[in-house]
Amino acid sequence: MANEIIHAERVVRLKDAASGLDGVIVIHSDALGPAAGGCRFWRYADEDAMIADALRLARGMSYKNAMADLPLGGGKAVLQMPGGPFDRDALFRAFGRAVADLDGAYVTAEDVGTTIADMETVARETRHVAGLSARPGIAGGDPSPWTAKGVFEAMRAAARFAHDAELSDLTVAVQGAGNVGAGLCALLAEAGARVLVADISRERCEMVAARTGATIVSPDEIVNVQADVFAPCALGGVLDAAAIAGLRARLVCGGANNQLADGGAEALMLDRGIAYVPDYVANAGGIINVSAEYLGETSEQVADRVGRIASRVRDILERAAHDGISPATVADSLARARIGEAVPATA
Ligand code: NAD
Repeated sequence: MANEIIHAERVVRLKDAASGLDGVIVIHSDALGPAAGGCRFWRYADEDAMIADALRLARGMSYKNAMADLPLGGGKAVLQMPGGPFDRDALFRAFGRAVADLDGAYVTAEDVGTTIADMETVARETRHVAGLSARPGIAGGDPSPWTAKGVFEAMRAAARFAHDAELSDLTVAVQGAGNVGAGLCALLAEAGARVLVADISRERCEMVAARTGATIVSPDEIVNVQADVFAPCALGGVLDAAAIAGLRARLVCGGANNQLADGGAEALMLDRGIAYVPDYVANAGGIINVSAEYLGETSEQVADRVGRIASRVRDILERAAHDGISPATVADSLARARIGEAVPATA
């Protein structure tokens, strides 16, 4: 497959020998506001791999923030995890100074490999950080319940559109009983759906089953189990050719990031008549809550923004059905139009 060329507004290379900081901040788009996106702390094979991941993730944030109607652009920080021992506090202080130097052009938060404690460290150097410990009266804190709520709203709207059905008439297979999956199972059970749940942690499954009455399914079976809806809430890349060929559900809607394993996945689902709710549209509740903390919004405003996910999903599915194209293609092109980005080139 040809390599995609991703353009960005700004790429800032971070290197600080004293603390071991080695990373990059990518501001993909600032068309709608300051570039917001978390800080990933990961072990990369080399600098090229690190920068490529940052570019891809930053673009993803531009699309997600644009489709969530947030007054924010898209960005991402990616930091190389040092091979040997390192001083975590010093490293995240140095990262905080790098964010401060950008003077609000980039707003950071947690991502894979970083924690609330890391962001508290960053906050000692800059105010352009979200995802801190919850404080009374201010929106923020754990984003997972909002992510679960957004996925639930998205699924309900999509079920009405794709199945002409209410969730109370449907069986939903939830892959992953973590923070988002468990919250989603609870909302589904409350709405009267039949819930099947799988997790590689038996303990997580049992906890969710005890709380919601969900039926436990093995992790190997959950993708292909007899269900009306498949909800990926574990890892990314779960929708590959083999998984799609075996799917019995006619609707896919979940909280996991980057559910499509490759560029061919959306066409395969389209061919099989499976309605797919683009992951970044369904799971925007988390970023809505995190950015509310930065934007100074209330929980009511968060609830209102999360509630609007349903009409956005309906609009995307309607356009996709009308034009005979994948909902993922529709969402990407709507997001690109909102940020004024041209269709990406390949090399
Ligand atoms: P989590 O770590 O709390 O839960 C993930 C769960 O998936 C864990 O319980 C894990 O045991 C399970 N799991 C891993 N591999 C599995 C497999 N093969 N089969 C079944 N279960 C498996 O994470 P989370 O916060 O619930 O996030 C879940 C997904 O949603 C991730 O992809 C995350 O990036 C995405 N997401 C989360 C948020 C949020 O607010 N937490 C926001 C947007 C997107």
